Amino acid sequence: MAKGQISVQTENIFPIIKKFLYSDQEIFLRELVSNAMDATTKLRTLSLKGEAKGDIGDLTIDIILEDDALIIRDRGIGMSEDEVMKYLNQVAFSSAEEFLEKYKDDANIIGHFGLGFYSAFMVADKVEVTTKSYKDTPAVMWTCTGDPEYDMEPAEKEERGTDIKLYISEDSKEFLKKSRIEELLQKYCKFLPFPVRFGEKEESTWEGEGDDRKEIKTVSDNVINHKEPLWKKSPSELTDEDYKAFYTHLYPMSMPPLFWIHLNIDYPFNLTGILYFPKVNNSIEVQKNKIQLYSNQVYVTDDVSEIVPEFLTLLHGVIDSPDIPLNVSRSYLQSDSNVRKITSYITKKVAEKLNGLFKEDRKAYEEKWSEINVFVKYGMLSEEKFHDKAEKFALVKNIKDEHFTFEEYKTKIEVAQKDKHDKVIHLYTNAKKEHHSFIESAEASGYDVLDMDTMIDTHFMQHMEQKLDNVTFVRVDSDTVDNLVQKDEERESVLSEKDQEKVKTIFTSILPESGGPHLDMKALSPTDYPVIVTKPEFMRRMQEMQQFQNMGAGPMPEFFNVVVNTNHPMIAEKLTKMKGQERKEKFASYLYDLARLNQNMLKGEEMSAFIKKSLEFVS
Ligand code: ADP
Repeated sequence: MAKGQISVQTENIFPIIKKFLYSDQEIFLRELVSNAMDATTKLRTLSLKGEAKGDIGDLTIDIILEDDALIIRDRGIGMSEDEVMKYLNQVAFSSAEEFLEKYKDDANIIGHFGLGFYSAFMVADKVEVTTKSYKDTPAVMWTCTGDPEYDMEPAEKEERGTDIKLYISEDSKEFLKKSRIEELLQKYCKFLPFPVRFGEKEESTWEGEGDDRKEIKTVSDNVINHKEPLWKKSPSELTDEDYKAFYTHLYPMSMPPLFWIHLNIDYPFNLTGILYFPKVNNSIEVQKNKIQLYSNQVYVTDDVSEIVPEFLTLLHGVIDSPDIPLNVSRSYLQSDSNVRKITSYITKKVAEKLNGLFKEDRKAYEEKWSEINVFVKYGMLSEEKFHDKAEKFALVKNIKDEHFTFEEYKTKIEVAQKDKHDKVIHLYTNAKKEHHSFIESAEASGYDVLDMDTMIDTHFMQHMEQKLDNVTFVRVDSDTVDNLVQKDEERESVLSEKDQEKVKTIFTSILPESGGPHLDMKALSPTDYPVIVTKPEFMRRMQEMQQFQNMGAGPMPEFFNVVVNTNHPMIAEKLTKMKGQERKEKFASYLYDLARLNQNMLKGEEMSAFIKKSLEFVS
């Protein structure tokens, strides 16, 4: 038996390996199965080249559970004694050491690093490697008990390949549980290119009727990776059904996807994958179905936030790239040039897909708009490059459910809705029902009203105002209809200035003395309402922003204007001719209540008082 020291270095890295990233201990299995996969791939390549002679046989990788140990068995190239010395004692050890040295103080280390073979010591007290090279050199067994010393001795092994036997340590007993290993294999190895077998599975079916009914048990190999990684296939071989079935396989409980993109690029980096557009409704809900990142079909993580732009994390599916460096810290990942190229490639592909759908079948695209608008808007807000492409296919919808691009819409409304400063006023509502009367007035004036009711719209409109020339968004209830689109024309007032003053005095007396709404006398159309409560666009946006910043600080008092329409007969004739100050005030305050009711502002006590007053009026 030969004994040796793994490294001339005196520092012992094993305690560090053991403690290292406790929560990520489970990745040892991924690392070891990946090594087995690599050894198998190498063997197949050598065989294809004629360098490995004879029948290569079954290349299944076995995961075997014993009472106190876990074995990973491959039928790959194996190692000779020299190779064990070189690869396990030097290559594997020095790369693990280098890795730990570099990152032991870095708390932000990426969770899915590639510590390689030595990650076995995170869960095992003793590791036994029994291996036989395809070159038919004598088999050897290498044993290490988690210190820099190792033993090497000849071994009995008929078959080519490598067995890695892990004697699981006391505090990692979970890795001796069948269910835990099954779970890990399902997570990391589902799409590996060679079969990975974990024991056998028993399935039962029932045959016959009544008393003759009996259970038939069948036992078969429990092969983990029985599904093909669809993303590795060529899109021309695949049908829509294939893509949908694969989606269901990835995310069993989900609604079918809207559409998908098959990614496939070799140069300047290698990346394959399928990204699905899920059905996203009104809000950017927390997405349970995350994008899965693979490296050569080995699952790595479902946290791709450093690799794809934030807005694309709303998508689902798979990205597979061996060119994403995994053993680096997150901050480094973002500045990695490959990662940046990958990010912009994916962004470009997504924009192209949307543009394609928009051009090919506008109607179908419009039908999907309610489900993809949040995604597109979010993308435009967060990625300049995406914005530039999306300006062509981003849509607005009016309250009649007609869709337009921004350019089309501007052309449509330009004549009626250009104000005296040459701004094209885009009127909108975020609450069709509540703004009903305002919308009615706007439409009666020949204006069109957009429906902007998704959560993201407030930000999106502000964003578009900055991007588009001379476009302003104004909510329908932010001013009286005459003022929504400010023109130079002034409407004639029916009342003299003196009478207007009198009306103003009455209304002033019914409003709170300080801190109340701003009061305005305006000569509007006699068909408009007598008193209108408006919420000025600018003030409202300020308030919304403040609210957003002080989230949780409680509601802020609402800022609003009260506009008295001095041309309305109720004001111009009825109120001015009414006798008695008290009656006038009662009447004015009723009109004011109606205006507040129209803005949904009467609540609680005020609402009860209003109902009582109304009952008095009608009785
Ligand atoms: P990496 O796989 O990144 O090279 P590892 O530490 O995992 O680093 O492994 C070091 C080397 O040991 C591998 O490059 C390979 O040559 C050899 N090796 C590890 N596992 C096996 C195996 N199952 N069969 C053959 N060779 C292996």
